[in-house]
Amino acid sequence: MEKAVEVLKVLKKTYPNAKYYLNFKTPLELLVAAILSAQVRDEVVNVSTPALFAKYGKAEDYAKASVSDLLKYISKITFAGNKAKHIIEACKMLVKNHNGKVPKTIAELTELPGIGRKTAIVIMTNAFDIVEGVVVDTHVIRLSYRLGWTKNTNPEKIEKDLNALIPKQYWKETQWLLKAHGRAVCQAPTPYCSKCVVSKLCPKVGVKKSL
Ligand code: SF4
Repeated sequence: MEKAVEVLKVLKKTYPNAKYYLNFKTPLELLVAAILSAQVRDEVVNVSTPALFAKYGKAEDYAKASVSDLLKYISKITFAGNKAKHIIEACKMLVKNHNGKVPKTIAELTELPGIGRKTAIVIMTNAFDIVEGVVVDTHVIRLSYRLGWTKNTNPEKIEKDLNALIPKQYWKETQWLLKAHGRAVCQAPTPYCSKCVVSKLCPKVGVKKSL
């Protein structure tokens, strides 16, 4: 545990501006952006969402929209058709069951189409500041394995390992910091271990070649 905290402290000094990357102003905007962000870079989502959010402000607006309406705004995003369907269906459920508001529990969030546990934790953490676990994205999967923080490859098992290893006060920032480091240095498939600020604290599990 101490080593993990030390790594996080070093990363925080290295990436003081690390934050959640998707742009949003309301919980609903985050819910929509998070559904759109599956398997696509955050920058691509952030380019598409301003016009979408300007047109659709409430869950009721999305609930009344058609897939082709939304596609006018999100066509550059991978799997746009499916994601549009999920957004519309999720917003219909928000209107029907939650007065058009985004709920604040993982159980209620994961009932919505397009929202798995990871996205639910993202919404809880970043929209409501209710932190129920570490967000496990592709960078967290890769880095936590290399750092020896988990032996698992399944995201839900990794989350359990990280929740047990990392003190709760660091949960919120863990994903931001590992993502920043994963993009800058600990890249896939070949990390820059020679330039890495946490090299001495890292067992480099599974790293066959590094720069
Ligand atoms: S030492 Fe290498 S594998 Fe470990 S965190 Fe740094 S870049 Fe990644």
